[in-house]
Amino acid sequence: MDNFVVSARKYRPVTFKQVVGQNAITTTLLNAIKSNHLAQAFLFTGPRGVGKTTCARIMAKTINCENLTETYEPCDKCESCTSFNNNASFNIHELDAASNNSVDDIRNLVDQVRIPPQIGKYKVYIIDEVHMLSQAAFNAFLKTLEEPPAYAKFILATTEKHKILPTILSRCQIFDFRRINVEDIAQHLSYVANNENIEAEIEALNIIAQKSDGALRDALSTFDQIVSYSGDHLTYKNVIENLNILDYEYFFSVTDAIIKSNIPDLLLTFDEIIENGFDGQNFIIGLGNHLRNLLVLKNETTIKLLLASDKQKENYLNQANNCNSALLINALDICNKTDLSYKASNNKRLHIEIALMQLAKLSNTAGGFDDKVNISQKSKDQSLERKVEYKTPQPVNKKEKEVSKKPEIKEEIKTPPPAKESSEVKVDDTNKESETGQVQTDITGDDKIEESEKKNKPKDDSGRKIRRISITESLKALKDEKNKSEEGDEPVIKNEFTQEKLEEVWKEFVVGYQSKSPSFASAIAKYTPKLTDDFVIEYMVDNHIMAKDLLHQTSLLEFIKRELKNNQIKLKAIVPEVDEVKKAYFDNEKFDELAKDYPGIVKLKDQLGLDFGA
Ligand SMILES: [Zn+2]
Repeated sequence: MDNFVVSARKYRPVTFKQVVGQNAITTTLLNAIKSNHLAQAFLFTGPRGVGKTTCARIMAKTINCENLTETYEPCDKCESCTSFNNNASFNIHELDAASNNSVDDIRNLVDQVRIPPQIGKYKVYIIDEVHMLSQAAFNAFLKTLEEPPAYAKFILATTEKHKILPTILSRCQIFDFRRINVEDIAQHLSYVANNENIEAEIEALNIIAQKSDGALRDALSTFDQIVSYSGDHLTYKNVIENLNILDYEYFFSVTDAIIKSNIPDLLLTFDEIIENGFDGQNFIIGLGNHLRNLLVLKNETTIKLLLASDKQKENYLNQANNCNSALLINALDICNKTDLSYKASNNKRLHIEIALMQLAKLSNTAGGFDDKVNISQKSKDQSLERKVEYKTPQPVNKKEKEVSKKPEIKEEIKTPPPAKESSEVKVDDTNKESETGQVQTDITGDDKIEESEKKNKPKDDSGRKIRRISITESLKALKDEKNKSEEGDEPVIKNEFTQEKLEEVWKEFVVGYQSKSPSFASAIAKYTPKLTDDFVIEYMVDNHIMAKDLLHQTSLLEFIKRELKNNQIKLKAIVPEVDEVKKAYFDNEKFDELAKDYPGIVKLKDQLGLDFGA
C-alpha cells in the first residue's frame, strides 16, 4: 500500500522557478547565485506557509550543485544533489529555534560550523523561528554570525521580524516574503489537482485559496482534507460544507433583495445566515466582495478581475445587468463602513440589519412594507437635501401672555417716572421683553407701528392705562392689540403672485434692509428665492448657521407677506447637502467666513458702522 504523502510535501518546489508567488525574491536570489555575490547571512521573514524554508532549501541545494544547468538550476544528478534529494546531505543543517532555543543548542550548532564541508562548497544553516531564541542563545550566536567561515551560509527564518535584535538584523540580507495571492494559489492547486487526477471546480479551488490567507501550505492541507472527504471530484458544495463557508447563493439572493428594496426578505435571509452559525462581519465582508465582483463586470477592461468559472461568471453577469454602478458603489460604501464599525457596535445583529435596510433604500422602489410611498419618499427627501422648514411662530395663548406681562406692570406701578427719563427706561424694557422670548412683538418692524397707531384707538384696560405714561409703551400696547386681533381669527389672505413679483419684492427688501444689516441683506441677496407650491418660498443659504439666523429674522417674512398681500406664505431655507469648500477671496467673503465661527462680529461691524474698503 502506498504511503499517502501530503500535497504540501509532495509538491514542494525543488527549483526557484517552481516557487509560487515570490517572484521578486527568487529572482534576486538566483541573480546573486549567478553573479556569485551571495551574502553570508540571510533573514527570510513573512507569514507562515509562504515558502521561506522551501527557498532556503532550494538555495542550499543550488549553491552546492557541482554542475548547475544553464538556467542555474541544480542538476539533480551530482552527488550533492542526490544526497539532498534523499534528505541525506551533510551540508544542510536545520534548527527549529521554537524547540531548540537554549544556549547549548546554539553552541552545538556553532561547533558544527567549524567543520568544513566534505562534499560540495557550502554548509547551509537554516534556523527556523529564529525569534524564539533566548537572549543568551542570541548572544552566543552573534559572534559566529559576525565572522563566519567562508563556506558557511546562514538563513534565519521568522514570522516576527520585529522580535529580532537589531544587531542580528544588521548582519543579514533581509527578504520579505509576501502572502501569496488567491489567483496564484488557485492556479497551483489546479496544477496539483491535475497531477493527482482530481476533477476540481474552479470555484472550489478559489474558495480554498481565499480561506488560506495567502499561505500555500495551508491551502494544500485544506485541499488534501477535502479530497479525502469527497474523493476525486472536488465541488464547490463540498468545500463550503467542509470549511463552513457561507454559500455565495446567499449573496445573490441578498443582492436581489437589495435591488428590489425588499427589506423583509433581507432581514429573513440574514436571520437564516445567523441561524446557521455564521458571523455577521464575515457576512458583510462577503457581501462587499460579491458587490465588488458585480462592479468589475460593469466594464470590459475590469472583467478579468473576477475570478470565477464561466458558469459562475454568467450568474454574476445576469445580476450585474440588473443594477447600476452607482447603486453598487454606494452599496460597497455601506458594506465597508459597516465592517469598519462592526467591532465598536454593541448590538452586532442590529448593526448589520441597519446596514441591510440602508442598502435596500439605495434603489428607490418601495420598502416591502405597507406604507411604501411614505417611507421611501420621506427618507429620500431627508437624504437628498437637508431642509430647514420655517414656521410662523404659533400664537401664544392669551392666558400665557397675560401671565408674562404681570411683572412688567408691577414694575411700572412702583416707579412712575418722569416723562423724559421714561423713554430710556422703556428702551431697556423692550429689550428685556424680547429676550424673554416674545419675538412676536418685534416682527412687524417700525413702519408697522405707525400704521397701527393711525388705525386703532386703545381699548380700556386697567393695566394699559398705566402704561400709557410713555409714548413707546402706548405704541407697544397698540401693537399688542393688533397682534391679538390677528391671532384670534386671522382671515386667510391668499393673493396669487408670480415668481417675477416675488423676486421684485425680495429685492426691495434687500435694498431697504441694506442699512440695517448689510451682512444679512447680502446673505439673502446671494441666491434667487424660488416660489414653490402652496406659497412656500424656498431660498438657498450657505450653511446651517445661516439658515438658523434667517429663521430668527422674521421681518423678511412679514415684509413679503404684506407686499404680496398673502399671509399664507412660508419660507423654507435650503442648505446644500455638500458644503463646497469655497475659498474666500474678497474681504466680504472672508468676513462672512469669519462670521460663521464668530457671529458676534457681525453685530460689532454693524454697530460701529464699518464697511469694507474698495
Ligand atoms: Zn547537482
